[in-house]
Amino acid sequence: MTGRLAVVGLGPGNPLQTTPEAAAAVAAASDVFGYGPYLERLARHPGQTHHASDNREELDRASRALAMAASGRSVAVVSGGDAGVFAMAAAVCEAIEHGPAEWRAIETTVVPGVTAMLAVAARAGAPLGHDFCAISLSDNLKPWSLVEARLRAAASAGFVIALYNPVSRARPWQLGRSFEIVRAVLPEATPVIFGRAVGRPDERIAVTALRDADTADADMATCVIVGSAETRLVSRPALSPLVYSPRSSGRGAA
Ligand code: SAH
Repeated sequence: MTGRLAVVGLGPGNPLQTTPEAAAAVAAASDVFGYGPYLERLARHPGQTHHASDNREELDRASRALAMAASGRSVAVVSGGDAGVFAMAAAVCEAIEHGPAEWRAIETTVVPGVTAMLAVAARAGAPLGHDFCAISLSDNLKPWSLVEARLRAAASAGFVIALYNPVSRARPWQLGRSFEIVRAVLPEATPVIFGRAVGRPDERIAVTALRDADTADADMATCVIVGSAETRLVSRPALSPLVYSPRSSGRGAA
């Protein structure tokens, strides 16, 4: 008998930002797979088994979850934020493509979640109000030269850029290099937002100008949003500034 697999995005950390659909998908599972800290955020439902794993073993985790679903269990694989953004959904699709034919018969659903850049953007105003893109600075799965080429192209094309995985112990200099690349293209007053652990008790939001952007403000739990040349900062005497990217762009541009 073939079971089911749901790949579920839990949102960035605040339980109110876990959708009812995501909560229901987790509650309905007999087995839940995920990175340990994400599983700790979940109540264990009666009779449910949690399978914690290391963050880097995505393909292995996807394969184990699929094998369990193939044996008739009802399996959920959880990710923080959205499961399709630098997370487990792509690993599950990859495992199905390259795995045994029977995995293609497993009923598989992807349940979306609030991804980090949306939660960070909401704290600052509307920096993603116009065209934007997301780039992971992790070079585990792609060469660093490709990251540099994408940063240069995105900044030159006028995209606001959300940077995921900006720093880790193994990748200490990549964010600084990224700021250098975009500084060559963008005005030095371009707003930059550092959103750390958004939705969690240790949340920290900092807004600065590109000229002053300091890599020390970012860690593994930070999503950095670099504005475009059109992104505006509205200062408010008693409140934090509003950062937004206007709805119209390119008027008068070449
Ligand atoms: N699937 C996740 C992203 C996983 S990649 C999502 O959709 O959000 C991990 C990166 O996500 C981190 O390095 C950080 O850049 C970002 N991130 C995840 N949770 C975050 C949070 N609560 N606040 C800020 N950034 C976060």
